[in-house]
Amino acid sequence: MLESFKEFINVRDLWISYRISRPLRFGYLDVDVVKGVSFSINYGECYGFVGESGSGKTTILKAFMRLVKPYKGSIYIEGIDIYKDDKRGKEIVRRIGYVSQDPLTSVDPRMKVKDIISEPLIALGVDRKKALEKTITLLKLIGLDIKIMDRYPFELSGGMLQRIVIARSIISNPKLVLLDEPTSALDVITQAQILNLLKDLKDMMGFTYILVTHDLNVARYISNRIGVLLKGYLIEEGDVKRIINEPFHPYTKIIVEAFKLKDIGELKYNPTTGCPLYTVCRYREDICSKEMPPPIYINGSMVRCWHFKNK
Ligand code: SF4
Repeated sequence: MLESFKEFINVRDLWISYRISRPLRFGYLDVDVVKGVSFSINYGECYGFVGESGSGKTTILKAFMRLVKPYKGSIYIEGIDIYKDDKRGKEIVRRIGYVSQDPLTSVDPRMKVKDIISEPLIALGVDRKKALEKTITLLKLIGLDIKIMDRYPFELSGGMLQRIVIARSIISNPKLVLLDEPTSALDVITQAQILNLLKDLKDMMGFTYILVTHDLNVARYISNRIGVLLKGYLIEEGDVKRIINEPFHPYTKIIVEAFKLKDIGELKYNPTTGCPLYTVCRYREDICSKEMPPPIYINGSMVRCWHFKNK
């Protein structure tokens, strides 16, 4: 049931690093890929993360699935810290839906459609007959003919397969569904169909979505709020219309402009401490090269930029 305006997810000061081996040297290096990210999401919202590759967006999704452990910070879902409360955390995560970017590699090619969709329900202990009934209901809901139940993935188009993946992700009635670039492997017409389907399902079933995408158009179409990630920092968040029409942060301005021009070009980031945009930002000040700014709150939005410190 949709419980609008009530906080469902709360993420506090999340830090995640990956260990990489040092070339030509012994030992390892821990590299931060998510840096002090905090946000909250209400029931029934779609929160869209945008950022280029290496911005930390996919790692945040992995943290929700307990696939990478933060070394600092917390993820609360309905008030439960999914890492500190191990037992309840695992139970919550088992019920999260997940839609990956490439439907072909996210399903077992040897399984029939009916088994792909019903598998998560059977794993939760539901008997096969009931799981099959739910599968048929879902196939109708997502606009597919139930005759395809006995087909294999290679017999289906990319769009049909992504619908199957979506049906599988929602069969256990999750409250939360993670959307990992859900349309990036599809052609433009199928992209629009899948986005419409996701939107309709959210409105009908009251799902909460966390979307990650590099495509601002996708985020704009389906999200209520957008969070902009830059080199692991959440540098701005706010209502989708405000972000598109009146971006605050210089980096958000760049990606909004690029989205209109369809070309982001190549940005050279500041490799050391301070703001990653320092080397190319026209608003930069001395402090920008030394220290990452704290979150600054303006009319329900957040921005991390020294240029806004006195606004
Ligand atoms: S913190 Fe400084 S360098 Fe970074 S975006 Fe703001 S003004 Fe530009």
